[in-house]
Amino acid sequence: MPLDEYRRKRDFTRTTEPAPVEKRTPAGKRALMFCVQKHLATALHYDLRLEHDGVLLSWAVPKGPALDPTVKRLAMQTEDHPYDYGEFEGIIPDGYGAGVVMLWDRGTWSPEVEDVDAALKKGDLKFRLDGYKLKGSWALIRTRGYGGRGGKPDADGRTWLLIKHRDEWSGDLDVTEFAPLSVKSGGDFADILGADLPAFWHSNRAAGTDESMAASLQAIVEKVKRLGPSRAAASGERAEAPPATQKTAPRTAKRAAPKAAAKPSRARKTKQA
Ligand code: MN
Repeated sequence: MPLDEYRRKRDFTRTTEPAPVEKRTPAGKRALMFCVQKHLATALHYDLRLEHDGVLLSWAVPKGPALDPTVKRLAMQTEDHPYDYGEFEGIIPDGYGAGVVMLWDRGTWSPEVEDVDAALKKGDLKFRLDGYKLKGSWALIRTRGYGGRGGKPDADGRTWLLIKHRDEWSGDLDVTEFAPLSVKSGGDFADILGADLPAFWHSNRAAGTDESMAASLQAIVEKVKRLGPSRAAASGERAEAPPATQKTAPRTAKRAAPKAAAKPSRARKTKQA
């Protein structure tokens, strides 16, 4: 059961993440889904998830995907996630993965190999992405030897490299810097926190004093504060223009409308009048 590890790591009475369901979501004739979740946990990373056989195969990419084909990004394979996780965005209040999850990209993917299971076993999965931000041909290549954390030997075969193939969607644009916001809400981490936190404090109080969760939430708030606003959010540029290095502009996600400018104060109005 591929979701056992997912279940074991989480307490579903305490996390807002989707509980695993026994029933797998069959792809049938629809396209396979993929997503990338930007996850501010112990360290910031990007979780790439590819739907396969009813679950989401998952890799944590510390530096995020790179569009430059000469750049190989470390991708640590993590536990399979339930299909429903693909829409998740919000706060993980405490425990495993505590922090904030942003749905950074989503779309469909298709294998460029005959047999995905065989490719995974071999450690060489070629595939195409059709998301808002990531497109074209990619590869996940399992490394041998000393690819593990801190240069330790990778005994369990979980160390992979994520590489962009050279095509019309490759280039030297830093896509994580260029397009830092959510494709679901249009927000940055602070926005996601701001949307969810009041409900957490409320439910926390309703459930009685739970100091460990309160402390964990406080730590998450501090972490988001330290990270500061994303470049796009800081400059007020919430809509992301197409990159100059790409021949075809990517579809841009529907963005939340910029916050309305503050209305002139009554005092000012009076003065002007
Ligand atoms: Mn993660």
